[in-house]
Amino acid sequence: MFSGQLLPYLDLRKFSDQERVIEGEAQVEDFPRLREYRDSLDQPVRVALAFCRDDDGRRRLQGHIQTRLILVCQRCLEPVEQDITAAVDLVLVWSEGQAKALPAELEPLLVVDDRMPLSDLVEEELLLAMPLVALHDQCPRPLPDGSGEREEDTDSDNPFAVLAHLKGRRK
Ligand SMILES: [Zn+2]
Repeated sequence: MFSGQLLPYLDLRKFSDQERVIEGEAQVEDFPRLREYRDSLDQPVRVALAFCRDDDGRRRLQGHIQTRLILVCQRCLEPVEQDITAAVDLVLVWSEGQAKALPAELEPLLVVDDRMPLSDLVEEELLLAMPLVALHDQCPRPLPDGSGEREEDTDSDNPFAVLAHLKGRRK
């Protein structure tokens, strides 16, 4: 269930004119598109968003959405907890033309209906913030013999090797 000031719907135009702050907590199971993460259904989803009009009069939505998901480590195939934080900074636009007119560094959110389900936004932002590959910093169990990943065995007590590995995988 949603708690705090989390409403099921955002009234995008009205809330930005009122500079509304939306803060509260829900659970992963409240979001249909996140329900495939079956081991994570009871994890909290924290939402902290603020609507505003910026100096140029644009309607903006800024803040953070956070959760923790239990994913499968792609190295050892055991569960790994991943903190997911989506930094939200969107400019609300009501047409493609408005979107194209924005400076390149601003990200548009094309409004189809002023009344937007909060879950649509939360799902979209969290899925975008998801790591491409989930990995333990250090896997809890040694890899089975003959896995052919000799490189990782020799590097296993060097934390920088893990980082380099992560970076390599993200490309
Ligand atoms: Zn692992």
